[in-house]
Order: sequence, then structure tokens, then C-alpha cells
Amino acid sequence: MAEFHYPERLSLARLPTPVQRMDRLSEELGVNLLVKRDDLTGMELSGNKIRKLEFVLADALARNSTAVLTTGGLQSNHCRATALAAVGLGLRPYLLLHTPDGEPPPEPDGNHLLCLMVGADIRYIPTEQYPDSDAHLARWALELIANDERPFAIPSGASTPLGALGYVAMVDELLGQHRAGDLPGGNLPDAIAHACGSGGTAAGLAIGARVYGLDVKVVSYAVCDDTAYFHQKIDRIIDGAAQRFDGLPGSKDVSYEVTDEFKGVGYALSTAEELAFLRDLARADALLLDPVYSGKAFRGLVEELRRKDRYQPGSTVLFVHTGGLFGLFPKRKELEL
Ligand SMILES: *Cc1c(COP(=O)(O)O)cnc(C)c1O
Repeated sequence: MAEFHYPERLSLARLPTPVQRMDRLSEELGVNLLVKRDDLTGMELSGNKIRKLEFVLADALARNSTAVLTTGGLQSNHCRATALAAVGLGLRPYLLLHTPDGEPPPEPDGNHLLCLMVGADIRYIPTEQYPDSDAHLARWALELIANDERPFAIPSGASTPLGALGYVAMVDELLGQHRAGDLPGGNLPDAIAHACGSGGTAAGLAIGARVYGLDVKVVSYAVCDDTAYFHQKIDRIIDGAAQRFDGLPGSKDVSYEVTDEFKGVGYALSTAEELAFLRDLARADALLLDPVYSGKAFRGLVEELRRKDRYQPGSTVLFVHTGGLFGLFPKRKELEL
């Protein structure tokens, strides 16, 4: 493989994000359990999307764009991070959000509220039309061009080959923290676990492990779709990156695992057990996770550690807290506090 050089990248996230040890759970589960706090990449930019957007929005600026156009669910962390980052860069944000009935909710909340705060231009579609969102975006882009905008379209989750580089770079960041003595306990992880929703984080971590020679098991906890879907999607991102950038491995040369066992009843839907898990974790360890992504993934991780499944006893397991806390607020009733 040729040597890998990163393309243009903006500095938008607060990096490096800290790594903390979960003492009580480490004790209970018989591993060294670490959490990489990617929820601390920023306040309004919190979460994993901003690492991808550092590369994707650099591309948008390089192309002289005047606007960004992207899509997701009503409470999309990706759309919120994109809208906030875009406005900060002088780009106008256009968002296509899906809701069950294709209508905006009577009271804005959570991520959606923040998108409105920065003046994002939002269109709503019913969730059943979301599989056609690329076609919607393409049509909207043509309208914008007719209105003298130069829109830059970002696929959902910014999970493109370029966006995935954000998590390739995170592996490098982690190695730097290890060298600097900033990993509690001093060990590099034997496994990295995280929530998977559009595949870019998984792809980046798998590529990064290979590029930087980190012998680690990447475990992706799906929060929607299924294991077969994500293998295909993640492989496609990895192979796209290998094609576009010299020095990156193809999907046959990297490894990662996906499980859909803990996605629950559906995307952004929570069961009482899942919400109770979030409450208990907050009360025992002051760790706040989101109901849509990190909460489901962390619950899966803890469950598999309890079963002595997948992870070696005594090993170091790093969970990436991918953010999403604004998604807690719209669940205020269901949380039964
Ligand atoms: C988008 C998101 C994920 C999933 O990351 P992908 O790269 O889309 O798979 C996980 N956690 C949170 C909080 C997210 O917003």
C-alpha cells in the first residue's frame, strides 16, 4: 500500500476527546472499560458527525458552495451538527427531515429545535418516503441552483468515503493519547465498540485500525436495519475510500463485526427496558447516553460482557460515546422520571 495522506480538513471538533474509565462497571464486568467521550467534540457540534464533517465541509468549501443540503430523521444529530457547522462557515443549511406523518411537530424540541434556532430551511417528508430521500435531495438541489445557490449535498449521516476519514483520524488520535499517557490504565484497547446508524463510523474505525496497525476488534451495534445490510453498506464505504485515496485498504483487508441484536423495536423507538437502562446508568455512574444510538449500543455491550461473549475477560474495551444527548429531551414523557 502507498502511504496515506489526508485530504483537506477543517478544524471544527474539540479534539482530542477525553477517555474515561468506568470503574464500577469495569469491576462488575471483569474488563477495563473505557469510554471515549466523542459527545464532547463540542456543545452544539456534539457527537460523531462533526469528525466526518471536518472532511466533508472542507470539500464543500473547496467547491465554492454557498449552501449545504442534507437529510435525516426529525431528531437527526447529523442534521443538527451539519446545520450548526454550516452556519458557522457562512453556508446556508437546507434540511430534509422525515417524520411519521410528514408534518413538523407542534412543538419543536431537541435537535430539531436547534436546527430552527440557526434558521435552517427545513422540508418534511413522511418516513415512508425516506428511502427515496436521495431523489428528493436531487430535485431540491436543482431548485436551489435555479435560485442561484451552489448547494453541496451530503448523504445521510455524512457516511461517505470522505466522511469516514474522520474516524480513521480518531484511531490516530487514540494512539497519540496512548503515547502521551492519557489512557486510564495505560493500555490500548483490545476492542472498540460503538453505535452504528449509517456505517461511516464503523468504516472509519476499521480502516484506521488497519492503517495504523492497531490490533483491535471493532464491534458495531446496529440501531436500525440489520447485520447483512450494514456489512454491505460499510464495505461499500471502505472500498469507496480505497478507490479514492491512495494507501487505504479495501474491505477484504480490514475486519469489523456488526450485531443487530440490540436495535430494539426500531429506529429512534425505545422500550421501557432501554430507557430504564439509561436512567440506571445515569444514576449509578453519571454517564448520560442517548436513547437512539449510544444507549442501545452500550446496553448491548454490557449485556455481551455479562454473557462473557465476544470480549476477552480482563481485556481493555473502549466504547465510543458518539453523542446524541439532545435526543433525550423529546423522550421526557417516556423516560418516566
Ligand atoms: C449518527 C450517530 C451514530 C451512528 O454513526 P454512523 O456513522 O452513522 O453509523 C451513533 N451515535 C450517534 C449519537 C449518532 O448521532
